Amino acid sequence: MNNISINEAAKKYFADEAIKAQAISDLAEIIAVPSVAGDAEGIYPYGKNCALALDKAKELCEKYGFTTVNHDYHCMSVLFGDSEREIGIVCHLDVVPAGDGWSVEPYALTRQNGLLLGRGTHDDKGPFIQALYTLRFFKENGIKLPFTIRLILGSDEEVGSSDLEYFVKVCKPPMFSFTPDSEFPVCIGEKTIVSLAVEYDNVPDCIVELNGGTVPNAVAGYAYAVVKTDKKLASTKSISVSSVENGIKIEAVGKAAHAAMPESGVNAIALLCGYLLENGVVESKGAFDLIAASTAEYLGKTLGINASNEDFGYLTCVGGVISLANGKLIQSYNIRSLPETPVEQIKASVENAVSAFGGKVVAFGDSQGYFVSADDEKIKALTEACESVLGIECKPYTMGGGTYARWLPNTVAFGSGIESERGYLGSERGNAHQRDEYISEKELFTGMEIYSRAIGNLSKIV
Ligand SMILES: [Zn+2]
Repeated sequence: MNNISINEAAKKYFADEAIKAQAISDLAEIIAVPSVAGDAEGIYPYGKNCALALDKAKELCEKYGFTTVNHDYHCMSVLFGDSEREIGIVCHLDVVPAGDGWSVEPYALTRQNGLLLGRGTHDDKGPFIQALYTLRFFKENGIKLPFTIRLILGSDEEVGSSDLEYFVKVCKPPMFSFTPDSEFPVCIGEKTIVSLAVEYDNVPDCIVELNGGTVPNAVAGYAYAVVKTDKKLASTKSISVSSVENGIKIEAVGKAAHAAMPESGVNAIALLCGYLLENGVVESKGAFDLIAASTAEYLGKTLGINASNEDFGYLTCVGGVISLANGKLIQSYNIRSLPETPVEQIKASVENAVSAFGGKVVAFGDSQGYFVSADDEKIKALTEACESVLGIECKPYTMGGGTYARWLPNTVAFGSGIESERGYLGSERGNAHQRDEYISEKELFTGMEIYSRAIGNLSKIV
């Protein structure tokens, strides 16, 4: 079948009401499994619920005649074709916990005003259904492809992606893969993620308690300290001062934001430490100077690691969590750096910057990013599919967020969020990891058409 007829056939297939109804009902079945990854239980490396999601996916895929291979409940492969040359589609079936404040039941699919609500609809069970229906389209239309499509279904994406580390140990990665775990069009690069912590043991005696932030990968929205001081302290717009049993409590309220997009955040740790310095509660020239300065900005200038390039824009650096325990103050940093910069160089720069203030790097971890040229033929093939189905110009993008693409060779993130379909429930609801998470019906079926067209395009060039 030539590309034009593949595209025509895909348009028709995904407009079929019976196919649409089946897809929604299959999505409902997988959403009903509360597959939050947990501790290992017997043969289940991420707990029973993640294993149940893989079993449910196996049942759905085998129902349509596809072969599945269970990789010891770390992940699963669904195969279409018998060529040794493979194209991969990588999705994950684990979800983040539902959390509070849903207007509907999180682990049941709710169909409402063209939206399909439920935990995992957007991230990443809806994309699994899109990938399954892309396979169905090719199979049921009898279209022969020059490669096998391997759909890889993981169950540890949200926690650590050890599922894909396992996959590459037991299977040869496909020659090219995409992961529908982001937004359309194609993501050609992800920044390297570096997480580290700096410890200070020169904490002034006047600090009784000090804590701020909830997770290392977000700008801290709240921080507080309890201090012993005879200074007169007044509340301000973002600081409230009160007397407590063991001293004076100073609370700072900022604005939380994801570490990949810190621009909209206001770091409460910076507000708190800045206040302690300005009011002479702590002396200048110590740990607090560096902590206040490095959390008040997000470009890593204070730590001497600021950098930028044309493809990625600038490095970001977020001081997400601070804690005081056993006389030691520990400040965490989540750094999104350019993939070209060696992580050892970043570590050395931070060590150099903090040592003058009595700090030392005590924890260090990194996850290497990637970059593919927008001129790559495969990137062009995916972009064309997007442009022709969406009818708009699509430019490949880079991001600070991380997906499976960094864990599997020759992989990019591709869809399935469609910008014009996001935001129906405001900025605090409806997206990945938020309450009332949704995929719109239009997104679900348009994505299937884009993926089918993209596979058709790839079949002509790889
Ligand atoms: Zn995801």
